[in-house]
Amino acid sequence: MIPAAFEYHRPADLASALSILNTHGDEARVVAGGHSLIPMMKLRMTEIGHLVDLQDIASLRGIEVTSDSVVIGAMTTQHELITSDALATALPIIREAALLIADPQVRYMGTLGGNVANGDPGNDMPGLMQCLDARFTVEGADGPREIKARAYYESAYFTAREEEEILTKVTIPLPAAGHGFAYEKQKRKVGDYATAACGVIVSGDGASVAMTNLADTPIWSEQAGTALAAGDVDGAVAAALAAIDPQEDMRGPIAFKRHVAGVVIRRAMERALTRAKG
Ligand code: FAD
Repeated sequence: MIPAAFEYHRPADLASALSILNTHGDEARVVAGGHSLIPMMKLRMTEIGHLVDLQDIASLRGIEVTSDSVVIGAMTTQHELITSDALATALPIIREAALLIADPQVRYMGTLGGNVANGDPGNDMPGLMQCLDARFTVEGADGPREIKARAYYESAYFTAREEEEILTKVTIPLPAAGHGFAYEKQKRKVGDYATAACGVIVSGDGASVAMTNLADTPIWSEQAGTALAAGDVDGAVAAALAAIDPQEDMRGPIAFKRHVAGVVIRRAMERALTRAKG
């Protein structure tokens, strides 16, 4: 289908983009890679009067690895996440997860910011960002503010970001050197969203476990992390399963999703443990 008519804006800097959002309020929406938003517009599931394309805003791109964190611009594509050797060295779980998103065509266009911003429970990066205890910087008329990924998602498509704010970057604290990691995802076919997915980090500092598409938000389970850090994999799987709330849909009934979740969560935990060095 063809989307309803809209006015297209292509600002060159963040201030201009924010100004357009402020002028048009509910009528305006930013577009990044367009691989979630444009299909919704074509299906007429959403109608937008003013589309604000972020492609020309250079300050929203890039990956910076420092001694204690990684900072990724919102407009950095999933392909760029995969091809950054510096990122793969510092945080290899990001490449592992990004390679499981859709297919190369989608990953060339789809951005980290677009993946985490709007609260689609099917997207893989929100759960991964909770696992990594990332912080999102959002900027509006009153300037920038930070929101923890673990506090950002309220329900499907509802987040702590205000409509007129733009997500500008994601900051991820580096886990300890030699940390174990795994992102495990079960999907029906290449290019599909997860039936169930799980990200795990284990290090001398503890463990972190987060799940994707098993509730209307990503789920980070503190109890699962505590049990895993103590070496209790069975307890950690049980705690993770107690935290999820899958719903029946085209990917299967609730009992099937719980079964798949159990398999995926255990695999992620076991693989992360085997990769941990010390
Ligand atoms: P857009 O579509 O441009 O925007 C998405 C939403 O976020 C819009 O509401 C937009 O207004 C908002 N937004 C975008 N950027 C910002 C920002 N900086 N600040 C504030 N709001 C912003 N994703 C997965 O994670 N896993 C999958 O398995 C997967 N499979 C897919 C399969 C197909 C066939 C397709 C088409 C997509 C799939 N996706 C999947 C989604 C894909 O990764 C999207 O590209 C991504 O989720 C959205 O990124 P985008 O840059 O395209 O965002």
